[in-house]
Amino acid sequence: MSSDVIDGRLERASARVGDRTDFGPDLAAVRALSTVQPGALPIAVNGIRVAASIRPRKFVIEGGDDTPVTMPRTAFQVVYPDCSVMIDSGLDKATHDSFSPDKPEPYFAGEFAKLTRALNEARLIIVTHYHADHVAGILSAANFPELARKTIITTETARCLVETPHRPHLKLSRDAVANFIVLDYPACYPVAPGIVLIKAPGHSPDSQMVFIRLQSGRDILHSVDSAWVMDNILQVKGKAAPWVKEDVPAVMAQLRWLKRIHETDKNVTILVTHDDAHFDAVTKSGIVGAGLAPQ
Ligand SMILES: [Zn+2]
Repeated sequence: MSSDVIDGRLERASARVGDRTDFGPDLAAVRALSTVQPGALPIAVNGIRVAASIRPRKFVIEGGDDTPVTMPRTAFQVVYPDCSVMIDSGLDKATHDSFSPDKPEPYFAGEFAKLTRALNEARLIIVTHYHADHVAGILSAANFPELARKTIITTETARCLVETPHRPHLKLSRDAVANFIVLDYPACYPVAPGIVLIKAPGHSPDSQMVFIRLQSGRDILHSVDSAWVMDNILQVKGKAAPWVKEDVPAVMAQLRWLKRIHETDKNVTILVTHDDAHFDAVTKSGIVGAGLAPQ
């Protein structure tokens, strides 16, 4: 047998394994996991927008037109009676500007200053994936080692930060990445009271979603970047930006799963990272607090 044939077979086999076209964690099992860590459940989730990118809708969703869409760059704070956990870190202005050096896009320095304070005060930080708009707030911080030592990343995120940094200036050495708390888990992991990480590779190889059960009984499912906007989920249509390299079958399976939850489980509020109108809606409704809790 020629090595070409063998290579072809291996490729097909790994494609099958990598397809993940059946993404569908059992939400009842995730809910059960959310209460295994000792400690009070969270009392609130807050959100903050530190920047935005403006892209034609045709890049944001398959079949979109030229209408400009404002996509905020957000982070979230899970509030406990006596501490807080941050989900993602936003990004510093220099990193934000590095995405569009010729055409500055909105940056809210005052909001990033609030986010920086919240990161400093947080008991724990969770990074959902290695992309700059989620992790640069930590990587660029003057007190990087201090922040990294209370930040949980996966082994896959650690690998990406070292081997395939999202921006060249964010590349980490092996010594630097060793500051993080590095975690590996097969599917789901109860990382703190009420919080369950859900492995969801697709948007990036290391992507995770975050399930949060509040004391009130409400559930929040942060789908992170599987969708950029809620319409990706509601219409089950992926992103269409030429620069986005995703595992498309995996992302589509996640969009189908998220849509099913949205339609059938009214106790769950789905968040996405980059949807301005949805951020407005969930903060106006009071499900997510607008702005971070004073520390
Ligand atoms: Zn993002």
